[in-house]
Amino acid sequence: MNPVVIIGTGLAGFNTVKEFRKLDKETPVVMLTADDGRNYSKPMLSAGFTKEKTADDLCMATPEKVAEQFNVEVRTGIHVAGIDTAAKRVLLPDAHLDYSKLVLALGADTWTPPLEGDAVGKVFSVNDLMDYAKFRAALEGKKTVTILGGGLIGCEFANDLSNGGFEVTLVEPMGRCLPLLLPEAASEAVGQGLADLGVKFCFGPLAKAVQHGEGDALVTELSDGSEITSDVVLSAIGLRPRISMAQEAGLETNRGIITDKTLRTSAEDVYALGDCAEVEGHVLPYVLPLMASARALAKTLAGETTEVSYGVMPVTIKTPACPVVVCPAAHGAEGEWEIEAEGSNVQALFRGKDGNLLGYALTGDAVKEKMKLNKELPAVMP
Ligand code: FAD
Repeated sequence: MNPVVIIGTGLAGFNTVKEFRKLDKETPVVMLTADDGRNYSKPMLSAGFTKEKTADDLCMATPEKVAEQFNVEVRTGIHVAGIDTAAKRVLLPDAHLDYSKLVLALGADTWTPPLEGDAVGKVFSVNDLMDYAKFRAALEGKKTVTILGGGLIGCEFANDLSNGGFEVTLVEPMGRCLPLLLPEAASEAVGQGLADLGVKFCFGPLAKAVQHGEGDALVTELSDGSEITSDVVLSAIGLRPRISMAQEAGLETNRGIITDKTLRTSAEDVYALGDCAEVEGHVLPYVLPLMASARALAKTLAGETTEVSYGVMPVTIKTPACPVVVCPAAHGAEGEWEIEAEGSNVQALFRGKDGNLLGYALTGDAVKEKMKLNKELPAVMP
């Protein structure tokens, strides 16, 4: 019998195996990953200094341990080249692997804007444990860091690196912290919290180039002609679902790999979940949705076709300098913010025309309202 093949050993792939093995202990499973296959919790990558964790500390299990614990085969360092859905075959660099069912848990790629300059190759992005290990090594003995991007990942790293004793300058062209997640008053609260830690902001201009400066210094050139000199540059601009392999295999894709509520893609016996997936129009690159997906998919793989449902999905942003919890309204939802602000405590409620609560953003002490507000919110995908 051909195995169930899972491409990806991140939280989506790992939790699928974990849930599947609760239901089926025997069906052969092969996990493939381009990275070193160590099991870790990705959200910890932007809290490593605060929690004083090196890359090795963050490793929760080696691939050998995962293989033994769940009775699966884990093949690491293998970049899957493609999929032949007609032959039900995964194409490896110099071999192939036939599957009975295939799970795509491919994650998302970091996206960096086209930068110029002779030091572009020195710009870091941190999207897995191997990146994190290299980033930590590059920070050894250094003092200053420029962060490109003031979204969730950029703000979390700004807080964390400040906690680690680094001087941080954050560049955000949209003019405020977390511009896509928060209304202005809440962004200001977060900005103030980070500023109190010593974070400096360059709001407005875009990063254009990164050049070598004097000695080991790097110079980030901005679109308004100004420059920031630092030891290290970190890009935290954004993540894009990894869809190219699915596209090339002829699977339907949009923002992510399109699936129905059973996580089934447009190809028979091929499923997708986690950051690479677009489930009934929802692209939700967070842990809670992928856990719900893994539980549902495990049942389907074990023979009981099951739809995933997403309840209320709050996201806690790890900026202890100004705690934030946000529950974004559905993509394209129409409504208006209703805001109560007192210093760093902001309660912003996003209400539809009929007055119903569609989403919220809470900062400071207002995060305590989360549980109460969750009860008022509609499920993301019932
Ligand atoms: P990944 O963990 O990216 O795994 C993808 C896997 O696919 C990897 O094993 C990779 O090697 C493999 N792969 C890809 N292409 C190939 C190929 N061609 N061949 C072989 N293998 C391949 N979410 C929250 O809810 N709360 C948080 O606080 C939070 N903080 C975060 C902080 C940071 C710094 C980051 C980057 C993300 C954070 N997130 C947070 C998001 C959350 O971590 C992700 O949603 C989740 O980890 C995605 O898991 P995944 O398994 O889908 O993808």
